Amino acid sequence: MSVEVEKAKKEDNVLVATLAAMKQAVELTDLSPEVYEHLKTPMRFVEVAVPVEMEDGSTKVFTGYRCQHNNVFGPYKGGLRYHPDVTTDSIKALSMWMTLKCSLVGVPFGGGKGAIACDSQTLTVKERERMTRSYVRALGSILGPETDIPAPDVFTDAQVMAWIADEYSSNMRGPSFGVVTGKPLAVGGCVGRNEATGRGVFFVAREAAQAFKIPFEKARIAIQGFGNVGSNAAKLFADSGCSIVAVSDVSGGIYNENGLDVCKLIEHVEETGFVKDFPESQDITNQELIAMDCDILVPAALENQITGSNAADVKAKIVVEGANGPTTPDADQILKDKDVLVVPDILANSGGVTVSYFEWVQNNYGFRWDLATVNRRLEEKMSDAFKTVYNYYCEKCVDSDMRTGAYMYSIKRLAEAMKYRGWINGSLERNN
Ligand code: NAD
Repeated sequence: MSVEVEKAKKEDNVLVATLAAMKQAVELTDLSPEVYEHLKTPMRFVEVAVPVEMEDGSTKVFTGYRCQHNNVFGPYKGGLRYHPDVTTDSIKALSMWMTLKCSLVGVPFGGGKGAIACDSQTLTVKERERMTRSYVRALGSILGPETDIPAPDVFTDAQVMAWIADEYSSNMRGPSFGVVTGKPLAVGGCVGRNEATGRGVFFVAREAAQAFKIPFEKARIAIQGFGNVGSNAAKLFADSGCSIVAVSDVSGGIYNENGLDVCKLIEHVEETGFVKDFPESQDITNQELIAMDCDILVPAALENQITGSNAADVKAKIVVEGANGPTTPDADQILKDKDVLVVPDILANSGGVTVSYFEWVQNNYGFRWDLATVNRRLEEKMSDAFKTVYNYYCEKCVDSDMRTGAYMYSIKRLAEAMKYRGWINGSLERNN
């Protein structure tokens, strides 16, 4: 194990961990060190002031970011996050995961990510709108349907995307809705995009259960995070007969040995905002959820949730990473030692960017697909991606973990494209 991976294990810094994992993957695939040189630094990182007129008439200046990591395959693509705890390192790591994700599932996008450091739930709708528009103006020409295309992420949604599309279109003096994906249907959105990440999580979980010979229709599942990804995945799991024994959100967790009624829980969250106080359930903590006795654990909230201090408690046989970066490197090692399969984020949650790609394609040629077509194409893409990456991992690096296999597979594809584009001068292979 490399010094970098050892160092990343001691810190919960997602950028340090991602750089270490990418470097290790370049070495394990015997690729030229030039490949890592290209991947270690984003092609562009901007920090902007985002002034907003607040309801009380004052002006508040938020800090906004956009990271454009790598565009060897196509326009930068990645979500926009509104969260008080965003850091420049976390945004860079998130953009790198997008590059790896797009390469892994074969969609012709690069990796990007954006954020505004704010507690968005304390803002009024008007303040959120002004903040979003101000951010688009601050970024100027770096966004665009052929250059950089944001999408929803934590605490942003279709409405935020519509504001971005409108502000960008005003600046372009004409409609140009392909600048964002995850839009409402009325302004060029794609049917099924809202549920796509959760649906993709469901497809890869089903494939993983099959690979591990776990009867999927009887699987017991625990889900951390009950937002877009967690709740949509939960509904599909429940519709397939799986038992959702526990879920949690920022308010804490709930548990029912016999399975929670997911449709009623979604209604409860729509009414109250949180999972807590759901009838026919027992309160648990987020830590108890991670340690839940179940077959499949789906972290679908934030980074660094399964760590060196709680990974040993995980009882699930499979972890499917709905969230980006929920497992730290030292937790990966502990889970590997316990024979827990971790389906990595860059594969497990790639359903979102896949249907974002479908949306962008439809915007480009001005035609709409129906829901059955979107879902069928998503299912094919996710199932194929799981099988390809799982087989590659079993063949090339079963002594390591599936994340390493996914990074190796993805980086090989990136390296090939970089070589063809002339970004790598010497041999693509490492010279011994
Ligand atoms: P969301 O805002 O819709 O939901 C987030 C959920 O996590 C909420 O239920 C929130 O209460 C919960 N949460 C927040 N902090 C928590 C904590 N400390 N402990 C437990 N729960 C907590 O966000 P989302 O779009 O569902 O995104 C969730 C994760 O999935 C993020 O890592 C995001 O980057 C990733 N992701 C999202 C998409 C997408 O299409 N939305 C695509 C790929 C990856």
